[in-house]
Amino acid sequence: MVKLAEWQGKVVFRKYGVPLPRGEVARSPAEAESLVRSGKVPLPCVVKAQVLAGGRGKGGAVRFANSPEEVREAASAILGLEFKGEKVRELLLEEKLPIGRELYVAMTLDRAQRLPILITSAQGGVEIESVPDAQIDRQPIDPFPGLTGYEKRRAAKVLGLSGGQARSLERVLDSLWNAFQREDAELVEINPLAIVGDALTALDAKVIIEDDAAFRHPEYAEVRDDRTELEEIAREKEIAFVQLDGNIGVIANGAGLTMATLDVLTEFGGRPGVFLDLGGTDDPKKVTEAFLLMARAKPSAVFLNIFGGITRCDTVAKGLVEAMGQVPPAERFPLVARIRGNNEAEGIEILRAAGVTAVPDLRSSAQAAVEAARGRP
Ligand code: GDP
Ligand code: MN
Repeated sequence: MVKLAEWQGKVVFRKYGVPLPRGEVARSPAEAESLVRSGKVPLPCVVKAQVLAGGRGKGGAVRFANSPEEVREAASAILGLEFKGEKVRELLLEEKLPIGRELYVAMTLDRAQRLPILITSAQGGVEIESVPDAQIDRQPIDPFPGLTGYEKRRAAKVLGLSGGQARSLERVLDSLWNAFQREDAELVEINPLAIVGDALTALDAKVIIEDDAAFRHPEYAEVRDDRTELEEIAREKEIAFVQLDGNIGVIANGAGLTMATLDVLTEFGGRPGVFLDLGGTDDPKKVTEAFLLMARAKPSAVFLNIFGGITRCDTVAKGLVEAMGQVPPAERFPLVARIRGNNEAEGIEILRAAGVTAVPDLRSSAQAAVEAARGRP
């Protein structure tokens, strides 16, 4: 998924004419200070962490500053943050506008109606998930005529805008619709869209580009997404590796078996963490590499669920035992394996000899994995 950082979303918005505050990106406190001293960013200003998670306002990742010294201070405080698991590496500095009400406007795809929808709410400035449903208006948009006067007038009414402010909204919505269509976005969101005098200004920008349209947009190829550091390494090694919140590592082969394994662990009260799909890998070196990557995620226990079709159970077992030996003793974790299929008996033998709990039955092995993880961090 190509999720753009706020400043990148604003580059898109600017291209389509959405009104924005003046702003610049900084990557160090010194750079932030000099942007203000040189007048590129006027004071007072807003200093904002460029992370993908929302709720920055509440979380201390958006601060106001009135002098170059305050800008430097705010910048070093925010650049030191790890916001919702993401290290802050970039800041957006913007002029602080005197704002009136804060509104919410977004366009996305409604998969149930199979149409784009325009979502508006007069309750902007807070996370939309916390706004009561009755205060959120949703209008489907027919993609062929595109956004029409009707939808725009209704949006103005919902948002309580008239006169110059309503005309300003119509222009914002036209710009947003063009951006949504031409950039192949799956979401364009402005929260808050602030009233500044008689016009509207987008104070925040959230843009997600549709993955399937990536081939039409080489310009987004370099945009970071929300992969973790380990996921990034895995991607380079072409290992299918995903990090979740839980503490049980899962190694399986094939997407279906991997998903089923996550389900069965959850059913027994376990919390799957990292999962690794070995796919059709029969290369012990690759198995070793994948396993060592998993070890770096520090799981409490690892559950291995392999069906040996193309993959031979004994090859996978050999690779695993080899990999286990390379994990420093202090970092080892209990390993529970369920392997079935091609050369099953040999595989189980190899694993048991290495001290692995190997049980052919899915439910009891999953239970054993949940037990093994219990009481460990
Ligand atoms: P989020 O919390 O991560 O969505 O970050 P936002 O970009 O939405 O900023 C959070 C809040 O900061 C907004 O709802 C505004 O109340 C406030 N804010 C951001 N920019 C400005 C500005 O230029 N002027 C003023 N007065 N407030 C701002
Ligand atoms: Mn916001």
